[in-house]
Amino acid sequence: MTPDELKALVRTIPDFPKPGILFRDVTTLIGHGAGFAAAAGHMADRARAAGAEAIAGIEARGFIFGAAVAARLGLPFVPVRKPGKLPVPVLAMDYALEYGTDTLEVDPGAVEDGQNVVLIDDLIATGGTALAAVQLLRSAGGVVTQGLFVIDLPDLGGAERLREAGLAVDALMG
Ligand code: 5GP
Repeated sequence: MTPDELKALVRTIPDFPKPGILFRDVTTLIGHGAGFAAAAGHMADRARAAGAEAIAGIEARGFIFGAAVAARLGLPFVPVRKPGKLPVPVLAMDYALEYGTDTLEVDPGAVEDGQNVVLIDDLIATGGTALAAVQLLRSAGGVVTQGLFVIDLPDLGGAERLREAGLAVDALMG
């Protein structure tokens, strides 16, 4: 499946979750068996090329793609979770949203010291979410040098911000 064919499977919804926002909805991509398999396959190829020893995914849509990639490669999956979901003491990182802040959490025992962890999420906008996840995974001992996304919205500068933090960024589509 070509990048254009994959892109055609992503639906754009105006005014969600707030007026004025154009939401890129990957539900239709994962709802297409061949499209989902192709997207996971491309991401797995890139993760393998980056030397991945574990795959981390950001809750919730990053779990879908990250878990598919991890299972495909036979690698451990590390969930980067929303607050209060993990049943163990966690590492936590606050990050800025357009309005207010949010928090991500990781089980420090889920990452081995020096393990090459490739980060996966569905979309990168400002890069704030992914940057917080990278910092958490590094605090847990991971070596995080590659981020993989289904969609990059380059006008928001997120990929650039992540590159400045030492993360190579790849996306299947803009
Ligand atoms: P950032 O922190 O880079 O500004 O925002 C990226 C995060 O917000 C990702 O976890 C992503 O799932 C979510 N997100 C923001 N905008 C969209 C969108 O238009 N579509 C989807 N699918 N996710 C979005």
